[in-house]
Amino acid sequence: MKKRNLIFTYVPAVTGVLSLLFAFTACSSDSSSDDDASEEIEEETVTELHAAYAAFNSDATTIYLDGSNVVIETTGLPDHETVYWGEGNDLYLDEPDVQVTPSIMSSNNNATTITVDATPDLSGSTVDTALNTIGIAVSGASIFNDQEGAGALDQAAGSLDWTGAHIGPGVYHYHLEPKAFTNDDANLVGVLLDGVFLYGRQCDATGTYPTDLDASGGHTSTTQYTDGAEEYHYHIINELYSNTGSYIAFAGPYQGY
Ligand SMILES: [Zn+2]
Ligand SMILES: [Zn+2]
Repeated sequence: MKKRNLIFTYVPAVTGVLSLLFAFTACSSDSSSDDDASEEIEEETVTELHAAYAAFNSDATTIYLDGSNVVIETTGLPDHETVYWGEGNDLYLDEPDVQVTPSIMSSNNNATTITVDATPDLSGSTVDTALNTIGIAVSGASIFNDQEGAGALDQAAGSLDWTGAHIGPGVYHYHLEPKAFTNDDANLVGVLLDGVFLYGRQCDATGTYPTDLDASGGHTSTTQYTDGAEEYHYHIINELYSNTGSYIAFAGPYQGY
């Protein structure tokens, strides 16, 4: 009886040591296969940040890749003059004809973070824009659509500054062609929530107004940021909007969701 007990206690002890040894060898071989796995994942998700993002105001924005997404964090504070900076600010511009809202930049939280696809999905159906931020402009401020509150933009047109923007309520935002950085040209305006870039009324590919735009103002051609490659992008549509004497920045629908 005593001998059997010894055997029974001895066997688990031996297998315990053996499995420990096995675990050590397993660990050392695991470390190399782990490296292989992580390299494969990196190859799938790391994309170079699109060259157009270099045009964004680096004082206001922090832009980085997160897997297959691009994250854009912005203070929302643009690098151009407007009455909405408020008197005393270096970028304050006296605009006596603007029916200013009660808000000024310094007493308003303009910060926004958006996450967009690094490669927009252009195969799906269209999605309507909604109130609030529909994109971030190269200045760092938000882009809104053609609506104000529950109604058309006309009601708020008097409060828009020289570059088609105002505060209220919420962040400082552009509704119209932002003349501070695009004025009847092919300049980059910003990126919209579907990851598609928005350009001015003209196209870099032809040096004039594009004639093949879809309902969103989009088409596929080269741009100044694509190094000769064709890419789907939006333009500000070259049609005056209502009584504003200017052009809507983007009225939708999104094509890149
Ligand atoms: Zn507005
Ligand atoms: Zn174009």
